[in-house]
Amino acid sequence: MLVAANALLQHAVANRYAIGAYDILDTTMLEGVLLGAQRAEAPVLISIAELHTDQFDEATLLAAAVEAAATAPVPVAIHYDHGTTLDRLVRATQLGYTSLMIDGSHLEWAENVALTRRAAALAHAVGLPLEAEIGYIPGEEGKDAEHHPGAIRYTEPDEAETFVRETGCDWLAVSIGTVHGRFRGEPRLDLERLAAIRTRLPSTPLVIHGGTGLADEQFRALVAAGANKINYYTALVEVASQAAAQYRRWDEQRLAAREAIAEEVLRTCRVWGAAGRAEAAGSAAPRIAPVEHVIVHRWGEGAPDVAAMQREGVATLGSLPGVRRIAAGVAETANAPYPYLWTMTFATPEALDHFRTHPDHQRFADGRFRPFAAERITIDFRLTEGNGRCATPKSSQR
Ligand SMILES: [Zn+2]
Repeated sequence: MLVAANALLQHAVANRYAIGAYDILDTTMLEGVLLGAQRAEAPVLISIAELHTDQFDEATLLAAAVEAAATAPVPVAIHYDHGTTLDRLVRATQLGYTSLMIDGSHLEWAENVALTRRAAALAHAVGLPLEAEIGYIPGEEGKDAEHHPGAIRYTEPDEAETFVRETGCDWLAVSIGTVHGRFRGEPRLDLERLAAIRTRLPSTPLVIHGGTGLADEQFRALVAAGANKINYYTALVEVASQAAAQYRRWDEQRLAAREAIAEEVLRTCRVWGAAGRAEAAGSAAPRIAPVEHVIVHRWGEGAPDVAAMQREGVATLGSLPGVRRIAAGVAETANAPYPYLWTMTFATPEALDHFRTHPDHQRFADGRFRPFAAERITIDFRLTEGNGRCATPKSSQR
């Protein structure tokens, strides 16, 4: 089931364990992560990193992730990792992510605070939590090194507390000695620093980026010192590559990679203390419930070109945060009592509230739509049954 991400991490804080946030690139990785979480009976975060989104069609992969999460037997949230701009975060709210990250850790303090504050306001307006980062976690290998150049800068406990208070971010990624990608040499973790940050921020989920290459004992120590979300990517790709290399054909490689990912997810969920928590975490986290917003109407006197109006509305309203889907239509029958339709899906009830008061919406509604929409009915629906999915056809039910 697809659940509220913040409630999931709050469960991890309260029960002192860490949930894996596994970065995926395709549906093979998606399936592998969910299989592993299911075997571990663990809550899980499917994560997609902005720097990877030039490798696949993001909307298609997100649609698959939302569908797979909704039907998964364990609680799942979908995280947008290392967002760089507010526009990209708006897009993420439209695609179905259930938590967002803004990464201003390369900026000066004041700039990072300003950017993170705006990102938190955006996320909260549509009912989602925001992760932010202070200190600097560099990349040591591959693409991560290009995207995270430079040297490590540790997070100061004082800074961490001030940063969360000033920005309103919900989760904090801290720099305590890990790196993105694979370590060159021995990883040295500053566990006292992490514990000190935990003491200053007792209810803020703390995030570790760059988990690959740590020993199980180091992971256990991180969790004991206060880690609640561990980002994991490089090791997943490595185990998948090793498993796939045993085969020549791509179809066999794909299945081997999926199985290797599932086993690595199972293993890490056990080490991080998330295994066996699915039921408890799931009952602590409400399901993500999109809202259907439906308007049927007639045109009155002086109505403008209907097709142009609908096109403008879809373009204007469809670009706002938290709008998952928008469409306009015309009745199939000639004498329908209300011949015109708007139908929209909002990611959350908060997203609909935000939409109502958004100036772009008000400008369109007051200036272009309402003056000519003679009679109209507007209803918001919470979906209680079916979740948009069809039942299995009778002839195949044996
Ligand atoms: Zn990271």
